[in-house]
Amino acid sequence: MKREAPEMCRVDLPRDSAGFTRRECPECQRPFKTRPGPMDARAVLHKLQGFYPFENAHECVEGVPVWGCPYCGYRAEADAFLTPAQQTHLESVARGWADHVRYEQLAHVARTLAVNPSPTFVAVEPEALPGPMAAEPDELLRALPMLCCGEEVKVLWEWDQALHCFSCGARHDPMSGRQQVELRFVSE
Ligand SMILES: [Zn+2]
Ligand SMILES: [Zn+2]
Repeated sequence: MKREAPEMCRVDLPRDSAGFTRRECPECQRPFKTRPGPMDARAVLHKLQGFYPFENAHECVEGVPVWGCPYCGYRAEADAFLTPAQQTHLESVARGWADHVRYEQLAHVARTLAVNPSPTFVAVEPEALPGPMAAEPDELLRALPMLCCGEEVKVLWEWDQALHCFSCGARHDPMSGRQQVELRFVSE
């Protein structure tokens, strides 16, 4: 029984119950989460393209946003903030996809060589493409608003230093304004 090669390959980064996707800073390795937007698809494509060159590569090159680490402020193209687990997953998807393409090419040759009684190769059916990643757990990160960009970021509870907006890089000093008042209030 022949399996059809998948016509479309969906690659989704898992989200937690609040819709946040995990990121990891390539510089300080600290985790944080943001809500995925349209730019995520470009970051994923950019990463996939690194593993397996696409014919439409030129469509993926432009428009990868630069993100910053909320903790250390390190800035890089968005795909640098994929976690190691996400990168491993994307690599296995890219490799699986390449296997399917290669199989289809060989199988096509074999099919069209029907008149040839002794083909010199056999196309080995590839493994199924990897399934989706495991669900994203709701761990104890706190969601903070990035008022500069109207976004939210989930960061480590114990982080008490300045936070950098992952999107625009603006620095937000800790213990300012309402937050400080609330902390004082709690301590009384
Ligand atoms: Zn960092
Ligand atoms: Zn911002």
